[in-house]
Amino acid sequence: MIKMEIRQLMNKAVEFHGHTCPGVTIGVLAAKYILDHDNEFSIDEELVAVVENDNCSVDALQALLGTTFGKGNLIHLDYGKNNFSFYNRTTKKAVKLSLKTRSFGDRELSREERITKLLSLKPEGIFEIKDIDFNPPEMAQIHESIICDRCGDPTMSTRITNYKDLNVCVPCYKELKNE
Ligand SMILES: [Zn+2]
Ligand SMILES: [Zn+2]
Repeated sequence: MIKMEIRQLMNKAVEFHGHTCPGVTIGVLAAKYILDHDNEFSIDEELVAVVENDNCSVDALQALLGTTFGKGNLIHLDYGKNNFSFYNRTTKKAVKLSLKTRSFGDRELSREERITKLLSLKPEGIFEIKDIDFNPPEMAQIHESIICDRCGDPTMSTRITNYKDLNVCVPCYKELKNE
């Protein structure tokens, strides 16, 4: 596979994401680390990304690594942290990239200057990178659907709540509780 330069990766990610921003740039650098280590982390169904935020950076992973919510190989943990873990299901190798606190510093820099500076750095320059144990969170499973007694939508059984003898979906449960 021909290795793409950081600018090409950035263009591809921005095309998907819709705008240029420091967040997507950070995601590009995380993706670059994996692409540069494609002997350990092949870019296919066997790659699983675990992200601890749902900000702009995640779109770069979806665009460049093919780790997507739809395929179930992108897992979101709602921790509000800029940590990115990658797991190779074939080799059982895993690595965690954690944004160094100082990487987002330089408050005197403009947004554009910050993006330019980030693009001049290597992934190792902005992330703490360490090998971790292979223990990815459980993959999304297919559950049977149950019809919500209130709105009639077929709903994954694990998202159905019993409320006053009705099986209801999440939005219906919230509305019923507020009635
Ligand atoms: Zn953005
Ligand atoms: Zn409902």
